[in-house]
Amino acid sequence: MILQTKNIKTKDMYRTHTCGELRIGHAGQTVTLAGWVQRTRKMGGMTFVDLRDRYGITQLVFNEEKDIALTEEANRLGREYVIQATGTVSERYSKNKNLPTGDIEIEVTEFNVLNKSLTPPFTIEEETDGGDDLRMKYRYLDLRRPNVRRNLELRHRMCIEVRNYLSNLGFIEVETPVLIGSTPEGARDFVVPSRMNKGQFYALPQSPQTLKQLLMVSGFDRYFQIAKCFRDEDLRADRQPEFTQIDCEMSFVTQEDIIQTFEGMAKHLFKTLRGVELNEPFLRMPWAEAMKRFGSDKPDMRFGMEFVELMDTLQLGTFPVFDNANYIGGICAPGCATYTRKQLDQLTEYVKRPQIGAKGLVYARVGEDGSVKSSVDKFYTTEQLNTLKDKMQAAPGDLILILSGDDAMKTRKQLCELRLEMGQRLGLRDKNKFALLWVTEFPMFEWSEEEGRLMAMHHPFTHPMEEDINLLDTRPEDVRADAYDMVCNGIEVGGGSIRIHDPKLQAKMFEILGFTPEKAEEQFGFLMNAFKYGAPPHGGLAYGLDRWVSIFAGLDSIRDCIAFPKNNSGRDVMLDAPAPIDQKQLDELEIKLNLKK
Ligand code: ASP
Repeated sequence: MILQTKNIKTKDMYRTHTCGELRIGHAGQTVTLAGWVQRTRKMGGMTFVDLRDRYGITQLVFNEEKDIALTEEANRLGREYVIQATGTVSERYSKNKNLPTGDIEIEVTEFNVLNKSLTPPFTIEEETDGGDDLRMKYRYLDLRRPNVRRNLELRHRMCIEVRNYLSNLGFIEVETPVLIGSTPEGARDFVVPSRMNKGQFYALPQSPQTLKQLLMVSGFDRYFQIAKCFRDEDLRADRQPEFTQIDCEMSFVTQEDIIQTFEGMAKHLFKTLRGVELNEPFLRMPWAEAMKRFGSDKPDMRFGMEFVELMDTLQLGTFPVFDNANYIGGICAPGCATYTRKQLDQLTEYVKRPQIGAKGLVYARVGEDGSVKSSVDKFYTTEQLNTLKDKMQAAPGDLILILSGDDAMKTRKQLCELRLEMGQRLGLRDKNKFALLWVTEFPMFEWSEEEGRLMAMHHPFTHPMEEDINLLDTRPEDVRADAYDMVCNGIEVGGGSIRIHDPKLQAKMFEILGFTPEKAEEQFGFLMNAFKYGAPPHGGLAYGLDRWVSIFAGLDSIRDCIAFPKNNSGRDVMLDAPAPIDQKQLDELEIKLNLKK
C-alpha cells in the first residue's frame, strides 16, 4: 500500500534520490539526499543518522577515522534538523531487514544543515509517545509519521481510482457551490453571514443533494463530485463536522442500476487498493429483516450471533421481568460458558451503561454435559431451560445472553451493542475481513418525538417504493422508501435513493412532513419549479470517502485519514478555530452577539 516511490524520479536541485529509493544495486554511486534527521546514534568512532523523507529512511554513516571534523558536526545534529547530505552508497555491515533501504548506507563526505528544528514535542515515528491532543496541536509534525502519511496517500489513490472508474463509465465531475441556502431537514446547518445582504445567511451544504438533482434536470445524466459536506452534529469517532463524500447521481435508472454501478465501484476499490477480490454479489437485506436479526440497520456481517426472539419461550408467567416485557431476545456466544462471575458482572455493567441503557442481563451457561445453569434458575424448570437451549440452538460450552424490555426497538438496539461487544471479545471482527451488505426497503418516515411529526428517514426527495405509494395518505409510517445503504463491517459507507421527479408527489411528501405549501415553496420552490421543466427519473448515492479510507487502512477513527481534523468538540486545536472575530468584522456584518453567560 506504499506509494511506488521507485517510479518517482526526482530531479530536484537539492537531491539526486529520495530516502526510500536506494538499494544494493546503487552501491558505489555518489548520491545526494535531503530530509529530516529522525535520530542519531554514536557507536565508538562511528555516528549513524537516520534520514527521513516522505519516501522512507536511509542510514547515513560518519566515521571519525575518516573525517573527525565532519563526524563531530554530525554529532551536533538535533532531531528533525533538515539536512542535505552527499556521499557514496555502500553495502551495510549489519543489514536492517525491516527497512527497504536496509541493505545500504551512505558514507557521507559532505553535508549542509538546511534548517534547524526545536526538539519535537513527541517522537516522530510509527509508534509515538504523543497523546491525541498534542499530536493534533502539532499535526504538521504528526503528519511526518509514516503511518499517518500512508493514510493520506491511500486517500489520494482512492480519489484517483474513483475518478478513473466513474469517468470511464461516462460520469462527469461537476463542482457545486459551498455557499448555499439553509434547509430545515436533516442535521443542523453551519451558517455564514452575508456582508452584502445584511441579516442574511448562507448555509454550507450538508450534501449537494438538491444541486445534483438539478444537474439531472439539466441533462447531465451521470454526475459525480468528491464533495466537502458540513453537518453541525454531535461528533463521534466516525463523524467530523466537515467530511468528504463521493457524491453521485444518475438519470434514467432504477435502484438495481445504481446498486450494480456502485457495487462495481466498491469491488474495484477493494481490488486496486487492498488487493481483495470480492467476486460474489454483495448480500442484500431489507431494513426490517436487519432490525429483527441484528437490531441494526448496519449489521456487522463478519460474524453470526443472530438474535433469537424468546417471547414464547420465556414469557411463561413465572418471571415478572420477562412477563412485563414486549420483547425478549437472546444471542448465543460460542464457547463462553466458562465466563467467570466477574466477567458476567462486567458484561452486565456494560449493557447497563447509560449509552446502552439496558436494565439488566440474564444469562444461561450450557455445560459440557449439556445441562443449563442460568441466572434465572429459580423462575424456570429444567425442562423450560432445556427448551431455551434448543430454541437458541446452543451447543455445550455456549453462553446464552438475554435482554428484555418494553420497547422492542430499543431492546434490539441494546442487544445489538451486546452482540458487537461479544464479537469483539471473541475476535470475530477482524479488520482484514470485509463483509459487505446492501440494506434496502428503509421506512420512508420516522417519528420524531422532538419535532412531534414524521421526518424523512433518508431525505424528503426520496421516492417511496411504487407498491407503497397508495399508503401515503392512510398509513405513512408503513411506507417503504426506494432507498439503499451500503454497509461494510457494520459501518454505513454509503447510501442513496431513487428520487421523486414528479412535482405533485414531491409536494405531497412535503405535506406529510408537515410543511405548509407556502413553507415548501419558500424552502424548495427552486426544485419543484425545476421539476416542472421535464425532470428525468433519477437517483443516486453518496459514499463516505473518509469512512472508506479508514476501513481500508484499518483505522479506528476517520480522523486519522484527514490531514487536519477537528476534535470531539469540533475544534481545530492547531489553528485554534473556531474563535471570536474582530468587533470590526461584526460591525461590518451588523451582527450583535447575545452570548449567554
Ligand atoms: N445526499 C445523501 C446523503 O448525503 C446521499 C444521497 O441520497 O445521494 O446522505
